[in-house]
Amino acid sequence: MRTELMVTAICWDTDSKMNAESAHSYRDDLRFFCPHSECLCDVTPGHRKNFFFKAMPGQPHQAGCPNEPPPRENENTTDRPKQVQSVVPDTPAGVPTRLGPVRKKVGRPSRQDKLQMAGQLEGQTPSRVGSLDDIAKAKQGMREPWNSPLEVNGAKLDYNTAFYSIPQNQPDSLEHVRFDRIVFGGVRVNFDRTQDTLLIETRKGFMLARSKRPLKLRIPASSEAGKYVLGLGLTDAVPDLTKNVTMYLSGATATLVDNEYRIRFNLRAFQWHFALTVALAAHR
Ligand SMILES: [Zn+2]
Repeated sequence: MRTELMVTAICWDTDSKMNAESAHSYRDDLRFFCPHSECLCDVTPGHRKNFFFKAMPGQPHQAGCPNEPPPRENENTTDRPKQVQSVVPDTPAGVPTRLGPVRKKVGRPSRQDKLQMAGQLEGQTPSRVGSLDDIAKAKQGMREPWNSPLEVNGAKLDYNTAFYSIPQNQPDSLEHVRFDRIVFGGVRVNFDRTQDTLLIETRKGFMLARSKRPLKLRIPASSEAGKYVLGLGLTDAVPDLTKNVTMYLSGATATLVDNEYRIRFNLRAFQWHFALTVALAAHR
């Protein structure tokens, strides 16, 4: 039985421990369970004054589980456990340790599946899932050498190695671009009103035949990602092309279509915030 809030659980869908604050953003998308091997009950993130995990209605923790809440002696009192500070002492608060997307696995885990995952994750630090925007901002607020851990596309990297700068790519050939990392670089943003489409193109060009061409990304203005970019106010009637704008991409590739390099994503549209973000400054 516990006297503190349950703030860490195992996330079945991402194979990681997660703290309740990070998990709360994904409470409708991901499944969590109690890490104690005798229990393994399903839990869900909640929030009142603090973030915490709670068992599902009618499916409590096993009797004797260290995460079992204390009994309510009087139903008229709100008998809340006392707060704990944090279980992630070696990760700065708010810094994501993993870039989504978060995908729900197919099917339900068996007790044996959960037991195996709990064993593998024993002693590991909880992960904090972030959008690409969260991660770009976290890096901007971080001092070099950017060695805070960051998992991208299953690769365990850090805030230095997870990023790949397009402007620093030499030579100007597309095959050197590490699309398995978070690719970033300066861009121009234009709004084609006749097509109702946003056109984002890199300032850096890549060789095609004997000339350089930018990487181009077209986004329907009515899509969620399109509304986000429009909301940044980069596409005024007379766009200020001297403005420093940085685009970050994850899970993208560029392919040659109709004689131009087009950026494509392997993500589904609703997951765009793990794939694209635009910052209104030149970034390192
Ligand atoms: Zn439990």
